[in-house]
Amino acid sequence: MSNNCVFCNIDKKNYIFENNHFFVVLDKNPITKWHCLIVSKLHFNNIFDANISIFNNLWDVLQFLITSFKNKYWFEDFNILHASWKNAQQSVGHLHIHFVPRYKNDNLDLWIKNKK
Ligand SMILES: [Zn+2]
Repeated sequence: MSNNCVFCNIDKKNYIFENNHFFVVLDKNPITKWHCLIVSKLHFNNIFDANISIFNNLWDVLQFLITSFKNKYWFEDFNILHASWKNAQQSVGHLHIHFVPRYKNDNLDLWIKNKK
């Protein structure tokens, strides 16, 4: 727990889902509708600091999100994004993964090689 860390201070009432090692909240600046953040409950600076054993719990979170979206909203298109360190554009120094639902004609191109 870090007092200065925005992810360590998220109110539990905002949790969409949680398990032993992760919780899910909506991104405050979504790039698509229902863009979520999967955040580790413990403060790890990034993916390298976390023990491999917690990542079994990450799979559970992904299964929950994928199943929920599929059942509720009838879509199963999404991207999973993670940034470790500055050159990868990590903005918050606390392990988190973006779950970005994708929609037909959302005009989002996440692949640099396709940018003009
Ligand atoms: Zn933190």
